[in-house]
Amino acid sequence: MLTFAPGPSKVYDALPTYLQDAYEAGILSANHRSNAFMSLYQETEQLMREKLHMPDDYKLLFTSSATENWEIITQSIVEQASFHIYSGSFGKKWIGFAKHINPATDGLKVEANQSIDVANLEIPEDFDVIAITQNETANATEVPMAVIEGIKDKFPEKMIAVDTTSSMAGIVLDFSLADIWYASVQKCFGLPAGLGILILSPKAIEKCEHKGESGRYNSLSFILENAAGYQTHYTPNVLGIYLLNRVLKDLEEIQHIDATTRDRMQKLENAVAQSKSLRMLVDNAETRSKTVLAVTGSEDLITSIKKTAEKEGMQLGSGYGPHKPTSFRIANFPAITNAEIDKLVAFLGKY
Ligand SMILES: *Cc1c(COP(=O)(O)O)cnc(C)c1O
Repeated sequence: MLTFAPGPSKVYDALPTYLQDAYEAGILSANHRSNAFMSLYQETEQLMREKLHMPDDYKLLFTSSATENWEIITQSIVEQASFHIYSGSFGKKWIGFAKHINPATDGLKVEANQSIDVANLEIPEDFDVIAITQNETANATEVPMAVIEGIKDKFPEKMIAVDTTSSMAGIVLDFSLADIWYASVQKCFGLPAGLGILILSPKAIEKCEHKGESGRYNSLSFILENAAGYQTHYTPNVLGIYLLNRVLKDLEEIQHIDATTRDRMQKLENAVAQSKSLRMLVDNAETRSKTVLAVTGSEDLITSIKKTAEKEGMQLGSGYGPHKPTSFRIANFPAITNAEIDKLVAFLGKY
């Protein structure tokens, strides 16, 4: 069964080879203080620079998930409070976890079809971090890089943290626009779940040092101390890191992936636009995600389309939260081949 679910999502077809190689290379039994592991970490960080254009002076850190990164950011970087701009369930969860640690956390909810109005955006002085869910997997919306740039220019004294869990490795991210970026690997990286990625600029690292929080197993100061020598703060998911390394090695440079992602999304959107009975969940092209498509229709139709798709060997992603019965979602992630997207486009064309 081919899955179009946006996380966990289809893994790369080369995964069986990578897994066999990992076993044979002996890395799975390597100690995380060994040279073998340290080289793997260092090489993976370098590949993030070469393939995803992570800046040279930004640091790659490994955590367990994007969810863990939500807590780490509030716990170890935020000094006053974070201000969250969000439109869907993942952004809402982030602000929820942040509030639990720091009750001064606040934010602004925008509608899925609503572009962030940067000109009229007001964020009081009591907030030192702006939290943005760049790609909201739940409702298939995105915050374009140009909007993040506008926010950065308007609030140069605040630090921006960006959730790119379902867009990193699928589209070009301009890392220079923010100091904190994170993802996990079961979306655009096309890997099994269980590894979180946290990317920090020198300014974010400085802020963590300034705050001086320490003593927890995932205190950022502790993570950074270990990462300075390409080690980790606990016995890490070495298999996950090895697989990430292999995926990055085989990946085209991100500008090429980005072009394919946009091209394929256009095809999918055209199929929906031409359909008599289906509509895009997000009408505003400016806020529509490039990596996740949400399609809506009557409850009966959605149920029947999902059933028919399964008979043809395709699993459509369920709608999320309130949209569950009347929508389905499609992951437009790089591990899904062009032929597989074409098959789906032809299928949607029948409705
Ligand atoms: C999937 C997802 C998460 C959660 O990722 P985990 O690895 O399960 O913690 C967070 N934010 C967004 C936008 C996501 O798509």
